[in-house]
Amino acid sequence: MPPTATLEDIKAYQQKVEKDKITPHNLPPCPRCSVDSSFFKIHAYRERRFLIIIEMLIKAAYCSLVRFKCPGCGKTFTNYPDFAIPHKHYTQLSIMGFSARYLNTEDITYRQAVMFDRSVPGYPHSDATLAPSTIHRWITTLGRFTQTYRTALILLLQENPVSSICRDLARIIVPQRKYKTNQRKKQLSGCRQLVIIEAFFQATFKISIFTKLATRCAFS
Ligand SMILES: [Zn+2]
Repeated sequence: MPPTATLEDIKAYQQKVEKDKITPHNLPPCPRCSVDSSFFKIHAYRERRFLIIIEMLIKAAYCSLVRFKCPGCGKTFTNYPDFAIPHKHYTQLSIMGFSARYLNTEDITYRQAVMFDRSVPGYPHSDATLAPSTIHRWITTLGRFTQTYRTALILLLQENPVSSICRDLARIIVPQRKYKTNQRKKQLSGCRQLVIIEAFFQATFKISIFTKLATRCAFS
């Protein structure tokens, strides 16, 4: 089972919010008027539901996210904790983990990618389970993080110019049975590149690309 953010991670973030410890510094500058994010002011708090998977059960956990406002033009920005991906309820570790499971196993289907010993993670008081189509959508989202991917690759090559990463990335093959269109092939290979970059990034810098970099790149 891929890892998940824990209830403790989410509670710890909530405490940071309550103690006013969330700053806008990692956000990119305002795309409308270029004001640096360090000048952003707190605009609002919004409660957000996250879904974590513990021992095959999908459980809800809540915490507040902070919205900041650009003093130049009034545009607002949400600051995401490193366990979150915008517009997704499941946590980053689950999203990356299940997507990697599908991509790294050559003959696995989406249905098999959510299955462990013939059962699928589900909600405690209903028949609903983690849907195979959810993994399909996660891969679409992760496949679009090209700015994050490119920035991470530049940082990795600056740190280690003889890294084997370019070789590993060039070797990526997406099995033909996993796509019917060229667009899907591109999404699958983009997501797989991101999974590889994340592993190298963690090994090199001891942090995830989701800790600061993805925020800085506006999750693009
Ligand atoms: Zn602005």
